[in-house]
Amino acid sequence: MTARDELAPDDAQVPAAQPLTSRKMLAAARKDMRETERAARREEAHQASRRFTPLRAAGTLAAVCALIAGVAIPAYAATQQDTSSQTASVREAAEGEAQSLEVSEDAASTDLTATTYAATSSEEIEKIEAERAALERAEAEQAAAEEAAAEAAASAEATEAAETTGTVASAEAPAPTVVDGAVNPLPAGSYYVSRSVSSGHDGTDMVAPAMTPIYAVKSGTVTVSSEGYGGWGVTVAIDHNDGTQTLYGHMTYGTRQVAAGQAVEAGQIIGYVGSTGRSTANHLHIELRINGVIVDPMNYLPI
Ligand SMILES: [Zn+2]
Repeated sequence: MTARDELAPDDAQVPAAQPLTSRKMLAAARKDMRETERAARREEAHQASRRFTPLRAAGTLAAVCALIAGVAIPAYAATQQDTSSQTASVREAAEGEAQSLEVSEDAASTDLTATTYAATSSEEIEKIEAERAALERAEAEQAAAEEAAAEAAASAEATEAAETTGTVASAEAPAPTVVDGAVNPLPAGSYYVSRSVSSGHDGTDMVAPAMTPIYAVKSGTVTVSSEGYGGWGVTVAIDHNDGTQTLYGHMTYGTRQVAAGQAVEAGQIIGYVGSTGRSTANHLHIELRINGVIVDPMNYLPI
């Protein structure tokens, strides 16, 4: 057996057997490698997916941060501007309120985005909580600013309402001028008030001795001077030509000092206390009207 001979059969076999074996081995090795690669790729993919989730969460976080920067901070700035403008003008503050309300809706949608986090680590949860807290703080400040603006608007409405009411009141019932220059219809210390205006009683009852002098509380024109004016008995009524009228009842018969149509001055004696008409004791029953409407004389006259 020569080296060649020895080799020959080997050589002859090698091309047939050796390559076959090596091919098998190679195939097996390749298969192993592929499986290893696959396993590696699976592991890598797994690792990648594990890495990917935090990355995606971080991306979401960044997007939310951008939203906060883009929406909440300008919104906060806008409300701050609105708040400062309140001091300048209440009307401007009311307009600003409408603006901040619009922004508020945007801020709410940002908050919804924040809740869609897929948190995977305590670190991320902390970040999310921090962002959420920041959002809540911004929203709370915004809400406070809106509340302040609403209050300002409400007070503005109240002021307008008060002005309107005042105008209407003065148109319906002009400020009573009876008090100015009015005198007490009876001498001070000569009487006591037994009752004033109440249901079924239109005047003030001033109890005083018979024949106590009765004064016109203000200047004016006598409209009624009668010995028998219904339940009021002996009565004098005066129009003070300023939207107010007075009536004096229950005088003693034959004591009237003025006639209808006569002009009188404040403090002028018009008659004397009695108990005529529907009366059970000597007293002056005095009525006061403002534009024909009964009011309480105690509120307008120095009684
Ligand atoms: Zn009376």
